[in-house]
Amino acid sequence: MADDYLVKPGKKAKLADRDPADTSAFKSEEAAKAQLAEDAAEIDRLQDRLYAEGKRSLLVVLQGMDTSGKDGTVRGVFNQTGPLGVSVTAFRRPSEEEMAHDFLWRAHMAAPKRGTIGIFNRSHYEDVLVVKVHKLAPAKDIDKRYDQINAFEKMLTENGVTILKFMLNISKKEQRERLQERLDDPKKHWKFNPGDLDDRKLWDEFQAAYELMLENCSTDHAPWRVIPADHKWARNAAISAIVRKTLEDMNPQYPKVTWDPKSFRVE
Ligand code: ADP
Repeated sequence: MADDYLVKPGKKAKLADRDPADTSAFKSEEAAKAQLAEDAAEIDRLQDRLYAEGKRSLLVVLQGMDTSGKDGTVRGVFNQTGPLGVSVTAFRRPSEEEMAHDFLWRAHMAAPKRGTIGIFNRSHYEDVLVVKVHKLAPAKDIDKRYDQINAFEKMLTENGVTILKFMLNISKKEQRERLQERLDDPKKHWKFNPGDLDDRKLWDEFQAAYELMLENCSTDHAPWRVIPADHKWARNAAISAIVRKTLEDMNPQYPKVTWDPKSFRVE
């Protein structure tokens, strides 16, 4: 199932051919929700082993247009996972300090420690997305960033970090509904940002930047997956299945102790 979403390294991403409302991987919404609950519990068990092992880590990168459900994915997929071994980093407009460094500096600082899962809510990819669309850096600098990102991610993987990258793919129509909800529901007003409307006007430019990113940075060591995200339940179930499978394949082990537990007695 995981491979339906893969962008094959070196191949075109063909975003226009990928249906954001696709739910064909699931028998029903109910079945997907049941699977998500099982996956979330299993992710917690595997995370405990990863933490105990203390040798490797998992980095989950979430990218997507405004309202694509990055926060919702974190809540939906990792809601069972003990907070000890998970860190979530939101990448906002860079601070003065961050701007004074290379664009990968803050991503490297936030990379997950051995034994933990790190989630990037937005990521270093903003530097070839929003920065490209809004021309916040010279084009010749941005062009070099794809290779720089690939090299950075290669270095991480060679140092024990497994990388999963998910583009949450929503349709323009679904985004309209979600933005309107933020205006209609007082509990969601805080999520509304008038700047999101400006970015919506640049929808096509953003899609083009996403295509380029997917094409240039889906690698064997850190492939991109495009997740249909118009249906929140399908999005969460797809991602939880992939995260679980990845952790199962990593197969972290509780360390063997060098002492005999029977030689101690707790009085
Ligand atoms: P979110 O929309 O993810 O809930 P915010 O409302 O804080 O969170 O928005 C973060 C904003 O920061 C987004 O508009 C995003 O495009 C912007 N951003 C992130 N990284 C960069 C960057 N490197 N340069 C400029 N803007 C960035």
